[in-house]
Amino acid sequence: MKLTPTSTIWMDGEFVPWDEAQVHVLTPSLHYGWGVYEGIRAYETAEGPAVFRLREHLQRLHDSARVYLMDPGWSVNELTEASLELLRRTDLTSGYLRPIVYLGYGTMGVAPQLDSAKVAIAAWPWGSYLGEKAEQDGCRLVISSWQRNGVHSVPPLAKATGAYVNSALAKVAAIRSGYDDALMLTPTGHVAEASAANIFALRDGVMTTPPVSDNILPGITRDTVITLARDLGYEVREQSLTRSELYVADEAFLTGTAAEIVPVTSVDDRPVAAAGCGPVTKQLREAFQDVVHGRNTDYRRWLSHV
Ligand code: PMP
Repeated sequence: MKLTPTSTIWMDGEFVPWDEAQVHVLTPSLHYGWGVYEGIRAYETAEGPAVFRLREHLQRLHDSARVYLMDPGWSVNELTEASLELLRRTDLTSGYLRPIVYLGYGTMGVAPQLDSAKVAIAAWPWGSYLGEKAEQDGCRLVISSWQRNGVHSVPPLAKATGAYVNSALAKVAAIRSGYDDALMLTPTGHVAEASAANIFALRDGVMTTPPVSDNILPGITRDTVITLARDLGYEVREQSLTRSELYVADEAFLTGTAAEIVPVTSVDDRPVAAAGCGPVTKQLREAFQDVVHGRNTDYRRWLSHV
């Protein structure tokens, strides 16, 4: 998706003009992928723009930095204020926020100097991630031949820049084969997740999503959907899923900050029972939109107003 520039990017306490927000080509984060980041959305509400679950995202940024032995040098509270001020300065009423912790220039080698962490936060307008068609009519998934990063290789629960070559290999292969996205498996054949979204399956009224132990990134949208679904009276299980359980699901959907909630229409060309958007997926999508736009006051704790 094409980037739409805004006026400014926050870099370690300074608001820098968009075109001048640059790093040196020899930053070790570019060469070795040692960096961590977040993807966050802001939505329009009746009381002006609000960021959805900002604190949880910035806490996960700090957790990811911890896994990679970096101290961002800015607390969750400080980064919260910086994010809100960035939205004020860019005049965005909705959009996407991308905080990143990366290593400064100065040393080179696979054991990078870890006390040089730097932080930047950018924001820009962003529409639907998988495209309008997939959003409305559902997406076609294929099981990838690329296995999802695992606990013995690249820690799945940290959102690290370098870890995304795994997602990118799977996604590029899926698109080149004519699908919308890839589903990656664990070494034991359990479904982990899509390239940048978690998955849920529904069968006989029970919702199942893979547990954290199946190498997923514990998504904040996944957590939101689990909470909303339980509040709506559904049973939700965090339990391993096999690909064939997905083949026979009544409904399936992906969740993620960028993707939001997207219905799955087929897995490996097997149509999911409710072609298009199934009734439960539709109900959850509507509930989610009410929450992020501030129309459901029960979940106002999740909104940080700009
Ligand atoms: N898994 C991966 C690999 C992701 O990149 C994302 C997007 N951040 C997700 C799951 C969904 O996480 P969240 O709902 O927190 O955006």
